[in-house]
Amino acid sequence: MKKIALEEHFITPALEPYMRAVMPNLPSERADHLSQLMLDFGERRLAAMDSAGVDIAVLSISGPGAQGEPDAAMAVKLARDANDRLAAEVAKRPTRYRGFAHLPMQDVPAAIAELERCVSELGFVGSMVNGHTHGVYLDHPKYDPFWERMQALDVPLYLHPADSFVLPYVLEGAPELLKPTWEWNFETSSHFLRLVFSGVFDRFPRLKIILGHMGETMPYHLWRFDSRTALIVGKRPLKEAPSFYLKRNMFVTTSGQFDNVPLIAALSALGADKVLFSVDYPYEDSVVAGRFLDAAPLDEETRGKVARGNAISVMNIKA
Ligand code: MN
Repeated sequence: MKKIALEEHFITPALEPYMRAVMPNLPSERADHLSQLMLDFGERRLAAMDSAGVDIAVLSISGPGAQGEPDAAMAVKLARDANDRLAAEVAKRPTRYRGFAHLPMQDVPAAIAELERCVSELGFVGSMVNGHTHGVYLDHPKYDPFWERMQALDVPLYLHPADSFVLPYVLEGAPELLKPTWEWNFETSSHFLRLVFSGVFDRFPRLKIILGHMGETMPYHLWRFDSRTALIVGKRPLKEAPSFYLKRNMFVTTSGQFDNVPLIAALSALGADKVLFSVDYPYEDSVVAGRFLDAAPLDEETRGKVARGNAISVMNIKA
């Protein structure tokens, strides 16, 4: 079945050092290989897409990108350069590629302007944000104008994992738990839950937030969010129970989570319109990702929604 994938990474020469800086424990040959794959927009990338049955890949910077730059003015320049390069590659292969805007979240007005430019002028279909920016999360009130623009443009934000700002003590001395094994699930789901509990979705009810890795464990947890927070004294007021916002405003992808158990949990908890196929190229194996969805125990209507129907509607893709 033909698929659209949306956690598919590239890198630019200028942003490669930021990416390499967050992979200190990767053997250099493996890091070099990943860089080569992500600098390529030609035959190798297209062959990987074909091997998973992906006809359209929505491309995004492999983090942290410009969000890792301490100087905000430099971050603005780096993001703009990355988006211009991506737009040029999409223009070369308009039937195969789309783009997610890369944004300098250090500078909110600049991030809004770049978002607007990417969507309105470059034709990008949303944005990807790589977690916190120097310890600032997206529930900070300074981002309200950004959310207002995201909602007005009617494009999704893909909330991609990032390393913890400060490593939680429980992860000290347990290198196996760092990064994708467990640290990023907790970091990224907590980031999303900050949006829920700070009332961002009451203020901006039409926001669409996409999380990878089958929702970073959250679809499993809806009942408990509701039952436990109901007991909290002094909680911030919300119009609805927490699970309402997870079901309405959250979309999840299969990136790096090619297992039927979390797939069925996500579909059951969130509904057939909320789960979208993705690979997480080049960190995951495209063949494994494609075979997983092709063989998953789903009816054909649901499989079609996960493979491409939901992506077309969430990102307004003209396929
Ligand atoms: Mn990724």
